[in-house]
This record gives sequence, C-alpha cells and structure tokens, in this order.
Amino acid sequence: MEKPIIIIGSGPAGLAARTGAGEMGKKAVILEKADRPSLKLLASGGTKCNFSNMLSKEDFMARFGRKGSFMRNALTLTFREWVSDFLSVHGIKTVLTDDFYCFPASGGAKAVRDAFCEGFDKVETFAEVTEILTENGQAAGVLLKDGRKIESNKVILAAGTSAWASLGSKKGLLLAEKCGHTIVDILPAVAPLHIKEEWVKSLAGVSLEKAEILLYEEKSSAGGKKKVKEIWKTRGNLLFTHEGLSGFSALDMAEEAGKMCLKNTSATILLKVFPERSREETAMLPALYRKEYGNKLVRSLLAEREKLPRSLAENIARLAECEEMTGCRLTAESEKNLISLLCDGIPLTVEKTGPMEKAMAASGGVSLKEIDPATMESKLIKGLYFAGEIMDLVGPCGGYNIQWAISSGRLAGRSAAMDQK
Ligand SMILES: Cc1cc2nc3c(=O)[nH]c(=O)nc-3n(C[C@H](O)[C@H](O)[C@H](O)COP(=O)(O)OP(=O)(O)OC[C@H]3O[C@@H](n4cnc5c(N)ncnc54)[C@H](O)[C@@H]3O)c2cc1C
Repeated sequence: MEKPIIIIGSGPAGLAARTGAGEMGKKAVILEKADRPSLKLLASGGTKCNFSNMLSKEDFMARFGRKGSFMRNALTLTFREWVSDFLSVHGIKTVLTDDFYCFPASGGAKAVRDAFCEGFDKVETFAEVTEILTENGQAAGVLLKDGRKIESNKVILAAGTSAWASLGSKKGLLLAEKCGHTIVDILPAVAPLHIKEEWVKSLAGVSLEKAEILLYEEKSSAGGKKKVKEIWKTRGNLLFTHEGLSGFSALDMAEEAGKMCLKNTSATILLKVFPERSREETAMLPALYRKEYGNKLVRSLLAEREKLPRSLAENIARLAECEEMTGCRLTAESEKNLISLLCDGIPLTVEKTGPMEKAMAASGGVSLKEIDPATMESKLIKGLYFAGEIMDLVGPCGGYNIQWAISSGRLAGRSAAMDQK
C-alpha cells in the first residue's frame, strides 16, 4: 500500500507542502512536536499575518541577497497571486497596507492557518521526530520521541529554525545535520539592534512613525578622503528600547547589520528622523528658527514644530551642542552639526543583533548547495525534501519569509508526490 508522505513541522511551509501533495492526489501526514499546530504562523504580523508583499518576483528574490535566485522555481510555481487566490477560494479576501504589504482582510493568521487545514486530517501534535531514517541513501521514514516508527520513502523537513525560541527550535536543523547536511551558522535576523550609545537606551519606549536607517561602511578614496558606502537602507516605524532599536526599520536592518558586526565587531548606521523631507527643506530649519523663532530653544522647536518626541529632540540638540541655545543664538558650529544630524543622519553604533529569543527569523540553515532548487529535494538523500526557513535563506521584515515558506513548501509537496511509491 502507498505510504503517506511524512511532513515534519506544521508551519506555513509544512502546511503548503501538504497542499502541494494533495493537489497531486497524494496523502501526507504532518507531525508537529508542539501541542498546537502552526504557532509561529499564528503569531505572525502581530497575529494578522503579513503573508506577502507587492514586489515583483525579481525584486523579491533580490531582497534575500545573493542566494535569492535559488527561489526562482518555487516562486514561479507559487507567488503572491497564488496565495491570494487560494485564500479567496477559502472565503478570505486580502488587503494591502501601505499599498505594499499583503494581509488577510479578516480573521488574521488563524484564518490563513485554517484555510490550509480545510479538507485535511488533523495535524498530529505532540509528535516530535527524533530521527529521519535512511536506507542506502534513500529516505525510509522517521522515528518519534514516543518510540513510534513511521515508514515512508518521502519525508519533507519543514521544521523551521530556533528564531523566537519560545515558538521555534533547532531540532529540525539537528535532524538535517544527522542526515549529513551542512548547516550554515544560525544567526538572528529580523531582530532588534543593540546600540552602543547610552542616550538611545534612555529613550526606551519612544517611537517614530517613520524613520530611515542607513547601514554604511567608510572607505578611503584616492585623496585620503573618507567616502560613505551604503550597504542597506530601510524605512518604517522605529522603537527605542532598553537595548537599542526595534520596530520595522530596525528589524529589517538586522541581518545585514549582524553580518557586519561579525566581520568588523560592530556596524555603523545613520538614523534619519525626517526621511520624507527633502534635504533642502531640512537644511533650512536653523535659518528659519533664527528668523522666525529667535527666542525659542532649538530643542523645543524640534519637539513642538517638527513634532519629534521631546526626549529625542533634546538629545539631537545635545549632540549638535545647542542644548540651551535659542534660534537667534545658534552658533555657526552648532548650525552645521544640526544640519548634519538632521540631513545626513544621527551616527549610531550597532554592537550586535538579537537575541535569538526575540528574532522573528534566523539566517543560516541547511546549505542550499545540497538542495535541488527545482524540486527542493536533498542532493544527499533521495526522497528527503526541505521547505521554509530551515534552509539557508532569509528575507527581511514584510511578508518575505511566509511567502517563501509557502512557495518552497508547495513545491516540495508536489515534487515529493511526483513519484511517491
Ligand atoms: C513573532 C513573529 C512574527 C512574524 N511575523 C511575520 C510576518 O508577518 N510575515 C512574515 O513573512 N514572516 C513573519 N515571521 C517569520 C515567519 O513566521 C517564519 O519565517 C515562518 O513561520 C517559517 O515557516 P516554516 O514553516 O519554515 O517554520 P515554522 O513556522 O517555524 O514551523 C516549523 C514547525 O516545525 C515544528 N518542529 C520543529 N522541530 C520538529 C520536530 N523535530 N518534530 C516535529 N515538529 C517539529 C515546530 O514546532 C514548528 O511548529 C514572524 C515570526 C515571528 C516569530
């Protein structure tokens, strides 16, 4: 009798893998170690589930860095339109926020999870896989923690990573390693930034609706002059924390900043508090203060006229050395400092990213060199497939990782079903 395909993990990758296998008329069972299925998916997007975004396929892949082209086959089969149509068939309309981020219009992450579960047997919970069985380089089944052995020549490993430790684990990575796969170092990505400057931490709780962060490297040019080389730029809301910075723009920066911290022990960023104003508009502020608001303190103007949080305004004035200066008393030196901080950005030092407990996704994972991108099958073990975050690919914040989990999962499920015996 034909044995069901075994899927390890009930995240979006595992659920989509079962859907893919089902489309090909094959049965698959999902084994989930937790007490409930899809816990990370349920928590995603603040439980609202930002499942994709409006980028083109090419731009989407580019946001995963150099390895992004690995995703081409999976995204060609399953991209945003497929997910939206799939949800629509299950009665869930989708909406965009900021004309870019895709969410279910109602029901949040639970509605997405339920859509993927409709028509299938229940996910088997409390079912931790402790070993993937192989025979002569071919998948042969799994062993479970409760001692059971389930046989199948098709196993899909969709067990995620240890990011957000209370909902994730490294157990799947260990299973892959035991099968002989190389695991690229796991690091926190989509995670808060730890900032060295103490004043940033003193602002814990303060937020900006829109800020821009620029990660840069200083390069010396031929004349000995230092040039700024932009590495990564993100824009979105920003939250000051006891460790440094969080919120969309910081989380989005974490992977690149983390890599640079590993290379150089720290990374330098510029924080722009008026990302939507032109340089000209911002640079004329000191002149305007002098002319129109001569008797007011610059720090009060930054807070009251420019609507910056007061504690941030005070720190910008302190950094510009005009803490106690009024508009008409602003010195040339302070004016120059202020323009630089507001136009070029406030320089900050990232010491590290993370911790893993607060990372929404992790970089690293099963080496892509050992996986066939056309099928998601292991190049080392026949009949073993990978899906989702467990592979060495991670996107930034904004619907990238769930889309990738669904795309790779559906491809893995369909591939595994192709010649299932
Ligand atoms: C708080 C939070 C918010 C997020 N928000 C978003 C968002 O809005 N948009 C977005 O794109 N991404 C978001 N992410 C990231 C996204 O949720 C993950 O990238 C995605 O869930 C990865 O899917 P996956 O199926 O590969 O792995 P997971 O969702 O991690 O699922 C893997 C499953 O495998 C199970 N498992 C592990 N080992 C075993 C084993 N040995 N035996 C049996 N089962 C096992 C785990 O318990 C888990 O349920 C968020 C993450 C977090 C933590």
